[in-house]
Amino acid sequence: MSLTNKEINLFARHLILEDFTEKKQKILSRSQVTFVGMGGINSPIIIYLSYIGIKNFNIIDYDNVKISNLNRQIIYSQNDIGKKKVLCAKRFLKKINSKLKIRTYNAKIIKKNCNKLLSNSDLIVDGSDNWETMLIVNDYCVKYNVPLLSASVAGYDGNIALFNNIPNKHLCLRCVFPIKKEIELPRCDTVGVFGTSAGVIGILSAHKIANFLTSDKNEQFKSNIVYFNGKNSNFSEIELSYNKNCKLLKL
Ligand SMILES: [Zn+2]
Repeated sequence: MSLTNKEINLFARHLILEDFTEKKQKILSRSQVTFVGMGGINSPIIIYLSYIGIKNFNIIDYDNVKISNLNRQIIYSQNDIGKKKVLCAKRFLKKINSKLKIRTYNAKIIKKNCNKLLSNSDLIVDGSDNWETMLIVNDYCVKYNVPLLSASVAGYDGNIALFNNIPNKHLCLRCVFPIKKEIELPRCDTVGVFGTSAGVIGILSAHKIANFLTSDKNEQFKSNIVYFNGKNSNFSEIELSYNKNCKLLKL
């Protein structure tokens, strides 16, 4: 399927980039990206991915919009307070491109429903701030070899990790954070969060996702974790390797 004239005009400024081909635009166009949570990080991610030409999204969130969300969850406005997040997000995105195909699930991910809610994904973005949910999503992605972008922000700082989940090349969230018992993560409603920090993490995540989806799959995409220090506005990076004691490691 070739690009329409409208799409060629719409994406003209990145289609003329030296390394950006029409083939890459088509890859973005047919990619299916699933969002777990539609909060401060996932809002800018999905907005930017919509603008650069990804058309197929699943959005999973069980919350309603609260006034305290609005310092960072830029997909919502004051008119949305009290309404279901998934429906408000869909309405916002349809204004960017009416051709977007968006499936919404007003639900919380649990072990029982994760196979249904997370299926048909080329990549899953986990922006939840709940360790139990993060593990359910991680385990699904490892089991079905689905790439996972996991991002979080607390206070002024944030981090992003992209797991390829390539068969026979194990490296997952449990490898990096080998925590056995349930933990209470620092949450926005307890430690606070600076709006622009969520924006930085969200836009960098969207950029990584676009690069990953259009990259040559024969090339090994480097797995790393990027830390953002929001007080100094600088980044650091740690390359990741698998943990031989990870319970998901397939020997
Ligand atoms: Zn692992």
